[in-house]
Amino acid sequence: MFNLGSVSTPSTTSDEKGKHVKVLVLGSGPAGYAAALYAARAELEPVVLTGMQLGGQAALTYTIENYPGFPTGVGGPELGELFQKQAEHFGAVTEFDLANAVDFSQRPFKVMTESGEYLADSVIISTGASPNHLNIPKEEEMTGRGVSYCATCDGWFFKDKKVVVVGGGDSALEEGLFLTRYASEVTIIHRRDELRAGAILQNRALGHEKIKFLWNTIVTEVIGEEKVESVKLKNVNTDEESVLETDGVFIFIGHTPNTQIFEGQLELDDNGYIKVNNLMETSVEGVFAGGEAADPHFRQVVTSAGMGAAAAIQATRYLEAQEA
Ligand code: NAP
Repeated sequence: MFNLGSVSTPSTTSDEKGKHVKVLVLGSGPAGYAAALYAARAELEPVVLTGMQLGGQAALTYTIENYPGFPTGVGGPELGELFQKQAEHFGAVTEFDLANAVDFSQRPFKVMTESGEYLADSVIISTGASPNHLNIPKEEEMTGRGVSYCATCDGWFFKDKKVVVVGGGDSALEEGLFLTRYASEVTIIHRRDELRAGAILQNRALGHEKIKFLWNTIVTEVIGEEKVESVKLKNVNTDEESVLETDGVFIFIGHTPNTQIFEGQLELDDNGYIKVNNLMETSVEGVFAGGEAADPHFRQVVTSAGMGAAAAIQATRYLEAQEA
């Protein structure tokens, strides 16, 4: 899997107020490591705070088939490791730490983390997004006991078992297809009768012998004592309720950007995405953002990496202008 830490010497200076860096990258997904790669090659010695999930959401994906350069696809964890290695090769430093508060009203910017405090001349935010929950009874209680938000992580536990997948987008279909490797039956439950997912995934899923679809249906409750035993369903057209026996409930109903710590510090849109212009500049000069934290639209590995690179190029220009 990933390197557990970098062999590079940290580029920070430390004083009683915290470590001072030129470029602090928050998040270690495709946007974060692309930003770190560009900042490292500009000799800005960036420090990457990994956040909760090293490699971001991409690292939880079994196969990525639409990142250019890999004709037959590449494993998500493998791609994440390559991103990390490449950035570290040029001098980026990875810190296994999580930012939990920021103060962008002062210069250098202040970022409080689980393990201390950083002072940064510029900040690149690539904190990504987290899966949405249905917020139905027993969903939280049964998480890890049959309820999951990651087929790649948990699919193996459902060998020869029945699972349901909630959602009708690319994630639901892609993860549903992945689950057919293990599960005996995958039922995709969608609230409409039309899928949001792209044509390729639709064709694969609609024609798959192990996949069934339940249309116009929502899950209203998870049922089980020690582990998931069934789900309660409701047909949204008829209001008819039913119970479906299942061993697993995989939920893929979109994401919420991980931007809570920036509330009151940066301009966010109504859904919490960081507002950036086409130069990846946020509402605070010297603070840049890329990837899913700032992208409600494309949300692809390649677009996130591109935004991260653009943010670092712009951060480099910003720091050069400060020195001039
Ligand atoms: P998404 O496209 O937003 O789809 C979310 C799905 O969940 C929709 O079908 C939506 O239903 C359903 N949903 C939302 N809230 C719900 C609720 N409370 N109860 C029941 N169903 C609910 O999210 P995503 O699939 O995670 O994809 C996110 C982005 O990543 C997209 O841009 C997608 O193209 C991209 N992506 C791409 C790939 C790929 O290219 N291979 C793979 C994964 C993701 P409605 O359709 O009725 O709104």
